[in-house]
Amino acid sequence: MNKSSPSNAAETKEAAYPGTGIYIHFPFCTKRCPYCSFFSLTDPSLKPLYHELLLAEIERTSEYFPDLFPSVDTIYLGGGTPSLMPVFAVDEVLTSIRCLFDFGLEWKDLEITLEANPEHLETGYLRELRSVGVNRLSIGAQRFDDAKLKLLGRAHSVKETFEGYENAREAGFENISLDFIAGIQNDTPDAVEKELRAIKELAPQHVSAYLLEIKDGTDFSGIDERKFPDDYLTAKIYLKIIDVLSGYGYEQYEISNFARAGYRSKHNLKYWSGMPWLGLGASAASCSLNARWVHPQSIEEYRDFVISPDFRIPPAQAEAEPQKLAEEEFFMSMRKTEGVDLQKFAEKWGFDPTEGKESLIDVYIEEKLLIRGGRKIRLTPGGFLLSNELLSEFIS
Ligand code: SF4
Repeated sequence: MNKSSPSNAAETKEAAYPGTGIYIHFPFCTKRCPYCSFFSLTDPSLKPLYHELLLAEIERTSEYFPDLFPSVDTIYLGGGTPSLMPVFAVDEVLTSIRCLFDFGLEWKDLEITLEANPEHLETGYLRELRSVGVNRLSIGAQRFDDAKLKLLGRAHSVKETFEGYENAREAGFENISLDFIAGIQNDTPDAVEKELRAIKELAPQHVSAYLLEIKDGTDFSGIDERKFPDDYLTAKIYLKIIDVLSGYGYEQYEISNFARAGYRSKHNLKYWSGMPWLGLGASAASCSLNARWVHPQSIEEYRDFVISPDFRIPPAQAEAEPQKLAEEEFFMSMRKTEGVDLQKFAEKWGFDPTEGKESLIDVYIEEKLLIRGGRKIRLTPGGFLLSNELLSEFIS
């Protein structure tokens, strides 16, 4: 690719914001989807308690800023189903953060994302979300075929996705991402290609296209695996998604993420760029400049953590061993299409994870799974399909 190509220019301009991203976990859903392994709750009577705990956690955590985290520049409300949050609750959470934390940008310039299910996107609700500061939506479209949505146990129809999306535009959302899940029962590259035409029609700024992972404990884990595409077909589906979305003008910048120029997810880039993020709420993960930790995955344990007289950040169970933090950062950064600058990595962490692995790298390059250019290495689309296996060779 030519150095002055628009794609390279966008890459430079779209480096991750340097500050902290705050992630808020809202775990409530109307029902559990059969493939989902996130921490979620279906009892709405717990919402008021959870909201109070969240506000208490925000306040208690703010005492540790900015020593552990640089100033905030993105906020992400994820779940669960954050579009089940009433606007007053979103407002209270955002106002509390705004009052108690330091910011690297003016409030209006922060990227503030809310994950939403299509069936909740009514214009009045969306306008109010805009008015309290939310300026980016991540809509769980998942598929553009009602039969496929049914297989996924989703509560919405394709028609509702289109209506919700139009309502969001009408309410003033100019930055919208759509989620798409591939690799479900009886999936084929042709079916995926056909459904992705809806992306062309809707023209969101960003697309997250995930391959289904069947996790233990989910309803999908009890289904005969022969109903799902095998590895070969899954690879073809993945390559088809890359091909179709790039044909529509989306640049792939991470294994599962594609964006129009200027619209990469600034928040999610922090996860893949060694930037700090603070997770608030049950099950939320955090990564400060020198530690990582995950909150408990139950309301009771989360409550005990928030109200404990021994509350501190990082909590006692945080992982703070530099070697492990470095390996995790390498693993996450290799998810980006631009890969890892090994010199910068070594300057930060004091070692090069590829040192002594030259012959392995040569094999991967020969097999077209990896590309090495100067001080950078990156995975190819084929390499992304095997990324867990490949990268574990560098961090074991
Ligand atoms: S709506 Fe999302 S978080 Fe809730 S159960 Fe379904 S996939 Fe999981």
